[in-house]
Amino acid sequence: MKESLFGFTLEQLSERLEGYGQKRSRAVQVWDWLYRKRATKFSEMVDINQESNQLLANHFVLQSLNEYTRQESTDGTIKFLFKLQDNNLIETVLMKHKFGLSVCVTTQVGCNIGCSFCASGLLVKNRDLSSSEIVEQIMQVQYYLDLAKHDERVSHVVVMGIGEPFDNFTNVVNAIRIIKDHKGLAIPARHITVSTSGLADKIHEFADIDLKVNLAISLHAPTDELRGQIMKINRAFSIEKVMQAVDYYLMKTNRRITLEYILLKDINDHREHALQLIALIGDRRHLTNVNLIPYNPVGEHRQYQRSEHETLLAFYDTLKKQGINCSIRLEHGTDIDAACGQLRSKQIQA
Ligand code: SF4
Repeated sequence: MKESLFGFTLEQLSERLEGYGQKRSRAVQVWDWLYRKRATKFSEMVDINQESNQLLANHFVLQSLNEYTRQESTDGTIKFLFKLQDNNLIETVLMKHKFGLSVCVTTQVGCNIGCSFCASGLLVKNRDLSSSEIVEQIMQVQYYLDLAKHDERVSHVVVMGIGEPFDNFTNVVNAIRIIKDHKGLAIPARHITVSTSGLADKIHEFADIDLKVNLAISLHAPTDELRGQIMKINRAFSIEKVMQAVDYYLMKTNRRITLEYILLKDINDHREHALQLIALIGDRRHLTNVNLIPYNPVGEHRQYQRSEHETLLAFYDTLKKQGINCSIRLEHGTDIDAACGQLRSKQIQA
């Protein structure tokens, strides 16, 4: 199978093209066509001579994802289902915010983490996505925006779609290097957020390479007993291990970390849980933000319901009054299959 051009950093592509007898500078030219001029065919790269153009076409592909279906919400959210070259399906979501356009990317086909509230976790991991398949999701959304001719650019990326990014660490890190390169897609590091279910060893590694992007950790419960019921991963990485990794990350990067907390009715949304969370955060509060997430019920997990709005606000107030930085995640696409993985899981079960 030919390789996708979107899987290479500029340095990697320079080396690869050099191996084919091209000048290293050819890679800069190719990147310009990929990310600035957004060519979708090799024949559009008119300033690359015919021989080199043919060489590119012989060894590489420009599009390895095909749109399979798309759902559009009245709030502007668009959920894309892409078919990969091996016919697997993945979800990518475009969200419109006041601050710009953000794309939520998937990192694996399915997921093995098995969070008990998650639609994606119902379909076990089939394989990791390559770096190119991660980058190309953003490119496909950008092509869609280009065709709409509203002169809009993807400005933010959240690595929060299906899969555990740190279970596909090397490909995800490579993709981030490509996405944030100012000669390429040029999405600033501070506009990129990676969310992990709490693979503590990988949080250490991520801190060491400090890509200057944002890190979010899915905590969802303040005690091991409760977190263990909601997230299987807590058996491998207890809250203590996760918080040790948080401390290491804060020490190494001095960057604020986000703790994600999905509110499940009468499971983790009581005042006592908020107080336990405050105690857990302790003196890390100046570098911590808690993101409260309203739950999107999925038919397969009937044991979980969405917390009442008043309960959500009370939880928020309790945290705020104790000086915890806290926000409530805005919901997107509630009139389409809003929960991550729902569209894919529907198509696969159909
Ligand atoms: S929430 Fe994320 S990590 Fe957990 S099962 Fe779903 S996709 Fe996997």
